[in-house]
Amino acid sequence: MRGFIFDLDGCVWTGDVLVPGAGEVLALLRSQGRALTFLTNNSRARAATMQAKLERLGVQASVSEVLTPLEILGRVLDTHVGTTSRVLAIGGPELEAAVVDGGHSLVPMDRYREARAVVVGNDFDFSYARLTAASRAVAGGAAFLTPNLDPRLPVEGDDFLPGCGAIVEAVAAAAGLRPLVVGKPEPPLFELALDRMRLAAADAAMVGDSVDSDIRGALRVGLTAVHLAPKGGHDGVAHYILDFLGERRRVAFVTAASLHDEDAYFTRVASVLGAPPPEGAGLELLHLRWNDRPQLVLARAEALFMGGGNTYTLLKRLRESGLLPVIRARVEAGTPYIGASAGSNVAGPTILTTNDWNVVALEGFDALGLVAFNINPHYKETDPAMAPGSETRDDRIREYHVVNANPVVGLEEGAIARVEAGIVTARGTARIKIFRRGQEPTWHQPGEQLPVEA
Ligand code: ASP
Repeated sequence: MRGFIFDLDGCVWTGDVLVPGAGEVLALLRSQGRALTFLTNNSRARAATMQAKLERLGVQASVSEVLTPLEILGRVLDTHVGTTSRVLAIGGPELEAAVVDGGHSLVPMDRYREARAVVVGNDFDFSYARLTAASRAVAGGAAFLTPNLDPRLPVEGDDFLPGCGAIVEAVAAAAGLRPLVVGKPEPPLFELALDRMRLAAADAAMVGDSVDSDIRGALRVGLTAVHLAPKGGHDGVAHYILDFLGERRRVAFVTAASLHDEDAYFTRVASVLGAPPPEGAGLELLHLRWNDRPQLVLARAEALFMGGGNTYTLLKRLRESGLLPVIRARVEAGTPYIGASAGSNVAGPTILTTNDWNVVALEGFDALGLVAFNINPHYKETDPAMAPGSETRDDRIREYHVVNANPVVGLEEGAIARVEAGIVTARGTARIKIFRRGQEPTWHQPGEQLPVEA
């Protein structure tokens, strides 16, 4: 590799401290004469500010080696909206300066109706008034642009600040329209980086911690992608699956929970999990059809993945096809079992804590009983979409505990409960809430061992 492009936040630094080893790696690459570019999605700082921060942290870099979406914002406005456009800018002072330096003019907030474009960056003074102005302007026909959709900004102490994406999503939700993304994973900044290094994509690598921004974007323009995952990665489930499977790659995927097109479901999952890492998991997926010699497929598989859909349908089909005792025996003998959603519900003793409707009039609710606790997938403590006065999940789980004694494990979207040798650990990117009969529920973060028996 003749050149390397480094992401900054979470890769070279977190907040105001260098990532351990980053300074040494960068100095080494430089001493070997390799070209370097720093490519950040930062929506609040231009190249000079980022370069000054690098210098302050002891990393040698020139301003032309740093790229942020603000560097090309003026040009993107030229092509997508027109030169000398009137722009409503929601974000920091450097975002506003980038608009003006790009030859465009700023519209004050109360005159948002005059804006031909709205640019939304991370805004530490974001307010309801700004949300109103931006979303009304976009809904009224102004072009909608953002430096990035990154939901979080990693800071020191393993913490985060809400990212530009969090604010953009608020505007997008109110306006009912999606923005044009100026920064990663879109190609222009990667192409500019290669241009500045005078290298072809085949001669350079992108090093980043975000699969969504850095890795996807790099692969799109033909760069080699290096995923920095200090704690096993933040986004994407592929690495959790691979970590759980060990050396195994041949996995039977069960589509029986789907009341729709099972083949289409299988194809969709196979294209994601079959793709090579880091985007996929590089698995060889076998389609286990509940109504077409399922036991033969299961016999060939090294692991089992039970997909989602309607939990009642899934249990009914597993029962009808005689698969329940067969799966139970395989898992007891050591075959790894992965369940998503309905597939996780059936891993418990019963499916009584599913969110689904019993659309197939199932008579019995006993499931695989691979673990002793029940699961409530997609758990949400509060849901703004619910009508006032609706029963919450917590209300329903409390009712469950009037009649049943085993714990219920509520999995927020993105959370994983990993069970191994009787130990249950929280994994993934979201929290787990545990409900035990007669006790206050407890919240648990990824990495914690859970106080339930498997
Ligand atoms: N319908 C869910 C699924 O995706 C299961 C559930 O919410 O209980 O499989």
